[in-house]
Amino acid sequence: MDVTITLLPGDGIGPEVVAQARKVLEAVAGQFGHTFNFHRALIGGIAIEETGNPLPDETLKACQTSDAVLMGAVGGPRWSDPRAAVRPEQGLLRIRKELGLFANLRPVKLIPALANASPLKPTVVSGTDMVIVRELTGGLYFGQPQGREQAGGRRAAVDTLRYAEDEIERLMRVAFDLARGRRRKLTSVDKANVMASSRLWREVAHEVAHDYPDVEYQDILVDACAMYLIRNPADFDVIATENMFGDILSDEASMLTGSLGMLPSASLGSGRPGLFEPIHGSAPDIAGQGVANPLATILSAAMLLRSGLGLTREAAAVERAVEKVLEDGHRTADLAAPGQPTVGTQAIGDLVVAACATATEQHQV
Ligand code: NAD
Repeated sequence: MDVTITLLPGDGIGPEVVAQARKVLEAVAGQFGHTFNFHRALIGGIAIEETGNPLPDETLKACQTSDAVLMGAVGGPRWSDPRAAVRPEQGLLRIRKELGLFANLRPVKLIPALANASPLKPTVVSGTDMVIVRELTGGLYFGQPQGREQAGGRRAAVDTLRYAEDEIERLMRVAFDLARGRRRKLTSVDKANVMASSRLWREVAHEVAHDYPDVEYQDILVDACAMYLIRNPADFDVIATENMFGDILSDEASMLTGSLGMLPSASLGSGRPGLFEPIHGSAPDIAGQGVANPLATILSAAMLLRSGLGLTREAAAVERAVEKVLEDGHRTADLAAPGQPTVGTQAIGDLVVAACATATEQHQV
C-alpha cells in the first residue's frame, strides 16, 4: 500500500509523541512492505504564531488530500487568554467539522499489566473493555448563538446545545454497528430528565435500536453513568453519547486504564480521511522534558492502520507490541508506581519499535 499520512504535531507534548508514533508507523511500513508518505502541517498555537490562523488553508488542503491524519494535541498557556480572538482549539474544532468527522471512537481497554496503575482497585478495573462513541460535530461546542453579551449592565455568556435528528441517527448507527462486532451491548447516555436535546436524542436512539434487535440496548442518565463507570466499568461494551458528555466521560474513563497517556481515539466521517489522535491535551506542565507517554499516540496510529487504512494485521502488531513493552515492566513516569524506574518518551518509542519487529516475526512464523 502506498499512502499519504498527514502529521499534525501541534503544541506542547504533541510533537514529542507524534515523533514516536511516526517511528512506529515507519517500522510497520518496512516490515509489511508498505510506503507511507508523511506530510507535516501546522495546527493550533504554533499555527497561530506562524500564520495567524489555527487551521491554515494549506493544512486543511493537505488533510483533505491525504489518506489519514495523525494529530498530537493543541493549546497551552501561551494562547489561553480568554479574551483572545483566535484560539488553538478553534483549529481542532474546525478540522473535525471540515472533514465531516462526526463520530469519535475512544476505546478504553485495560491492559492487564497496568491493573495496578489505575487509582481504582484492580478488582474494580479488571475486565474493562469498552468503546465510547462521542458525537463530535454538534452539540454545545458548535451550537449558535455562542458568545458573550452585556445584559442589563452585567456580563453574560451563552452556549447552545442543539441536535438535529439526522446527526443523532448517524452517530447511533456507527455505535450499533460497532457493538455488533463486539459484545452486542449498547448504552446510550443522555440527560433526558431535564434537557430537550436529550429527549430528542433518546427518541431517535430508540428508533435506531429497532433496526438492531440483536444488540442489547439501554439508556442511562449522564450523572448515573459517571458513577457506574467507576463502580462496574466491565459492564459497559459500547457507550454512545453527545459531544460534551462524551468529552467528560472519556476523561473519567481514562483513569480506569491508568493514565490519560494511554487512551487513543479515532474520528471518523462517511469517507476518508479519518483523524487519529490521543485523547489527552498538550500537557504544557511536562512539555519539552522528554517524559510524556507516547503510547496513546502510538495506539492512535494503530487505530489509523485499522480503521483509516484497513490494515488489520499491522494494527494488531502495534497493539501487541505496546502490550509486550508494558508486560516487560517498562513504564513512563505517568504509569510508574512510586519509586519504580521510568523510561522517557523516546526510549519507550524505541522499545515499541523493537517489540513490533518481534510481533511481526511471530505473526509470520
Ligand atoms: P492535558 O491532557 O494536557 O493534561 C492533563 C494532565 O495529564 C497533565 O498533568 C499532564 O501532564 C498529564 N498528561 C496528559 N497527557 C500525558 C501524556 N501523554 N503523558 C504523561 N502525562 C500526560 O489537559 P489540560 O492540562 O487540561 O490541558 C492542557 C492544554 O491542552 C489546554 O490548552 C487544553 O485546551 C488542551 N487540550 C487539547 C486537547 C486536544 O488537542 N485534543 C485535548 C484536551 C486539552
